[in-house]
Parts: sequence; structure tokens; C-alpha cells
Amino acid sequence: MKIHEYQAKEVLRNFGVVTPKGVACFSVDEAVSAAQTLGGKVWVVKAQIHAGGRGMGGGVKIAKSIDDVKVLAGQILGMQLVTHQTGPQGQKVRRLLVEEGADIKAELYVGMVVDRGTQRVVLMASSEGGMDIEEVAAHAPEKIHKVFIDPGTGLKDAEADEVARKIGIPDTSVPQARSILKALYEAFDKTDASLAEINPLILTGSGGIVALDAKFNFDDNALFRHPEILALRDLDEEDPAEIEASKFGLSYISLDGNIGCLVNGAGLAMATMDVIKLYGAEPANFLDVGGGADAKKVTEAFKIMLKNPGLKAILVNIFGGIMKCDTIAEGVITASKAVQLKVPLVVRMKGTNEDLGKKMLAESGLPIISAENMAEAAQKIVAAVKGAR
Ligand code: ADP
Ligand code: MG
Repeated sequence: MKIHEYQAKEVLRNFGVVTPKGVACFSVDEAVSAAQTLGGKVWVVKAQIHAGGRGMGGGVKIAKSIDDVKVLAGQILGMQLVTHQTGPQGQKVRRLLVEEGADIKAELYVGMVVDRGTQRVVLMASSEGGMDIEEVAAHAPEKIHKVFIDPGTGLKDAEADEVARKIGIPDTSVPQARSILKALYEAFDKTDASLAEINPLILTGSGGIVALDAKFNFDDNALFRHPEILALRDLDEEDPAEIEASKFGLSYISLDGNIGCLVNGAGLAMATMDVIKLYGAEPANFLDVGGGADAKKVTEAFKIMLKNPGLKAILVNIFGGIMKCDTIAEGVITASKAVQLKVPLVVRMKGTNEDLGKKMLAESGLPIISAENMAEAAQKIVAAVKGAR
């Protein structure tokens, strides 16, 4: 799960990280009164969406008067903000963060993710923070310093100090950087984050170290023990199809292709997407109906896939283990009738009660194309979308 910058900054503040003062706003009026309350002479009006690259996309603007705040808030609120992370359709801005303008001497980068290779949280830090960190990672990876943190000790003082110096923090500010880096690790660890990033972490004119941006992703499997984090969820930022799917216990991810896939088991779902690509087409979604799918679940899965206007065909690929093929056949038949299916449907099923399932499909009177194995299923579905036989 992702959260907004203003929420991430609140999480960080709770662990002792310094951030600029700011107020989350939902209207132009709120933005104006936020700026008045904050005081000062310079404010920054920041679009709050679950994507980075807002600065380059025109979603972060400096205001030098209350009038500026009003104009900028009016421009940014409601805009369809396009960044390199949103895709070309962009994301509608519904919330703003109005915060005090910071005195930036240097923009640095610090981030943490779980490193699978070492099975540790890795701290990454660079002197080249700001809006081009992806470029640095691609073209000057030696400028990114890493510390693989021992879970037994957490981030050690010496490790934090060494990294702080490597990214150009002056000696007098190292103690402050140390406390922020340690707080970042605490926050990451205690909230079960999967990613935490401060970009930029700035050095101010007076030697302060401040988090000017903040991003957190949390491990969905651990959210049950963090109700306070779950409360920060913003459904406006999530794919409606994925939200709908989660209500029925379906794991669904929208993709760009045109072949809908309905599969049981995440591994088989991945393999099914691979085989579709192998035969020259693209999957429209990842969909794992899980082990206990019944006719209702399958019907809901069909409905969710069919909401995608780009969908041209559906491939059902089921391994009947605990799940029986006749149950799936019943689901496929009920669903096809309920949604009055108009796109080609290929079904491949193997395993428990396979013969019964196939017989039910054949006798259903529906134009279902059956396949014996994955290669045949993929070839038939690809042929169907390409208009061949
Ligand atoms: P994004 O990463 O989505 O582009 P950021 O929050 O990092 O958004 O903002 C982009 C840039 O805007 C920062 O690199 C910084 O230069 C500037 N900026 C952001 N917040 C402030 C602030 N409070 N004061 C001054 N400049 C800011
Ligand atoms: Mg940023």
C-alpha cells in the first residue's frame, strides 16, 4: 500500500525526522488559510498523488505571496498530473500539501528497501538527490552508497556517520544526519515498510538536515497489525478494478494487453502470461482466483475483466488440485451466461474431475474453445484476438 507525501512526512515526524511545516488541503480556500497560518514569505504548493516526478510534471510550485498560493492551488487542484510514473493518462490531483519554503543548500538522496539477495534492509544514499535520481542510478551507480543493515543491531552510529560523510554532509551536521538515518530505519522497521525514500533530503543554509519529500510503501501482508497505517489508504489513487477484485478475495492487476487471464495460483498465472507473450500477444491482466474459487467468485472475476474496454478475449487456465474442474466449469458457464459473454473464450483445465468439467463445457451450448495444454491454449487465444482461426 502506498500513501501520500504529507502522510509519509507525518509518519517520519513521529519517529523524529525533521520536515518543513505543512498542511494538507482539499480546496483553494484551505490552501490560502494554510499559507496564512504557516506564515513566512515563501510557500510550496505540492500536488499529492501516489506517484513521483511531480516536480518535473508541474505539480510542485513555489509561491511568493498569498495570491500566488491561491492561483497555484487553483491550477494544481483538479489537474490531470502526468509524470513518468503515472502513464500518459496522468492522475487527477485531489489533495495538496502547502508547506513552508525551505532554504536549500544541497539536495541529497536517502532510501531504504528490502534487499532480497542479502535478506536485509538496504540503505541507499547519494549526494545527487533531487529530481534526477533515476538518471544517477542508471548512469553513475557509483554515486549511490549502500549499507546492508544488520537486523540484530539496526543501523549503527558508525554506519550512519560514514554514509552521511560520503554524501557530502559537513562534519557539524553529521550528528543530525545520523539521527535522521536511524529514525528512517526505525520507521521502516516498525511500520513494516517495503520502501521508504526521502528525495530530496536537504542540507539547509544553516546546516540543518530536513526531509523535503517522503515516500512510503507498506507490505500489504503486514497491514493487519497497523490499523493506523491502513487508515491512510486513499482509494482514489488505486485502480478501481483492483479494489473491486480485493473485495472478492481475487488477486487482480491491470495490464496493458488485450487477453484476459483467469487462473488459479499465482505461479500458474505468471506462467500463463508468459506463454501468451511467447505466442506474440499481451495479457490484459494478472488474475489469481485462489484455491477456493466457486461459481460466484468466477462470475465476479469475469465481470471485473470485462470492465476493461481493451479486452478482446479470455483465457481460463485451471489446474484442478483441491479445486475441482467441474466447479470451475460450472463457474465459467454461469459467468458466461450472466455477463452474456461476447469475446472469444478458451478454457484449458487439467486435474481433478477434468473429464466431468470438459463434458459440462461441451454440453453448455456456449462457444467455448477448449485446449489440452498451455501451448495450445495460448495459440488458440492469440489466433482468436488476431481474427484468425
Ligand atoms: P517529486 O519528487 O514528486 O518531484 P518533491 O517533493 O521531491 O516532488 O519536489 C520536487 C522539488 O521541488 C524538490 O527536489 C525541491 O527542489 C523542490 N521542493 C519541494 N518541496 C520544497 C520546499 N518545501 N521548499 C523548497 N523547495 C521544495
Ligand atoms: Mg522527490
